[in-house]
Amino acid sequence: MNKEKSCILVTGGAGFIGSNFIRYYLTKYPHAQILNVDKLTYAGSTANLDGSEANENYHFIQGDITDEEVVEQLFSDYSIDGIIHFAAESHVDRSIEDASSFIDTNVKGTMILLQAAKRAWEENGKLRTARFHQISTDEVYGSLDHNDKFNEQTPYNPRNPYSASKAGANFLVKSFGSTYGMNIVISSSSNNYGPRQHVEKLIPKIISNALNHQQIPIYGDGRNVRDWLFVEDHCRALDLIYHHGEAMESYNVGGGNEMTNIDLAARICEILDERYPVQKGNLTSFKELITYTEDRPGHDRRYAVDDTKLRETLGWQPIVDMEKGLQQTVEWYGNQWIVLNH
Ligand code: NAD
Repeated sequence: MNKEKSCILVTGGAGFIGSNFIRYYLTKYPHAQILNVDKLTYAGSTANLDGSEANENYHFIQGDITDEEVVEQLFSDYSIDGIIHFAAESHVDRSIEDASSFIDTNVKGTMILLQAAKRAWEENGKLRTARFHQISTDEVYGSLDHNDKFNEQTPYNPRNPYSASKAGANFLVKSFGSTYGMNIVISSSSNNYGPRQHVEKLIPKIISNALNHQQIPIYGDGRNVRDWLFVEDHCRALDLIYHHGEAMESYNVGGGNEMTNIDLAARICEILDERYPVQKGNLTSFKELITYTEDRPGHDRRYAVDDTKLRETLGWQPIVDMEKGLQQTVEWYGNQWIVLNH
């Protein structure tokens, strides 16, 4: 990587969405430089970026965004003129067990990045032009019961420690925009799915448990609804928002695919049945492995986002329909599973 040439700092780029984004971005913009800083927690893996090390426009640094010295060093060593901030503790269940790492990374880490960026960009005169893009979630809005949807004006109403930490981080980002005039933008997306997601999350867990003939746990009555967004469609939205989103604005990104968890699990099992017919004892379909478990405390019932603003102002729309996205996702995890087990 050419340290004199400007680069985008991507945080958390060894995780699910960050790694998909880096792959997308380096392919779309062959002359752009990306510096990826990631702590490599249990959720991150450099394997998610296999092949990228050969790209001279990409550089990986293992580092913790809650460490002020590490972050300051990045700004003194590289010519960073934009940040896309994915790094986070991201699993709701873990936040319910212990919120401390969520406050450290999601709130304090965001503050350290903001302060370092402010100092560096004030010094080089880029404070009002260099972009700080905060990656957020629709979970900051809380839970929906009826047919309405969250829009960008919906007040934040986080209901678990993960979403509270993300809401706190968003407020900090906004405050650096209004207090210091930083060029900030926030995007809040619905649940992503696709390749390279950690196996603790719903879709990879369904696929992996099924292929290993283990029970597929579904919380409560399985009627919780999520609006699923294929990760590459999210990457396309982030590209537009990073480059063309208005400073100080927030943009919702939705998939337009509302589905209950139980319907989702059943559909994935059907796809698996077609691709990898079950060969185990009395089992005739992977669906027989689905098991209802005690509900998650404070489990939000329904999320759905209204992304009209993104569609109308930046011309985005998802291009991968849910059936095609699920087929592709099952195929990707199936291939991983075959490699691991043969
Ligand atoms: P992930 O858990 O897969 O990846 C997070 C990455 O951040 C990992 O690589 C991890 O090692 C890294 N990280 C964690 N703590 C760090 C620290 N202190 N310093 C540096 N790196 C650290 O998460 P994801 O699903 O890819 O989510 C990325 C972002 O998108 C998060 O901010 C999340 O809140 C948001 N988001 C996710 C979804 C979703 O469906 N996955 C939906 C909406 C928003």
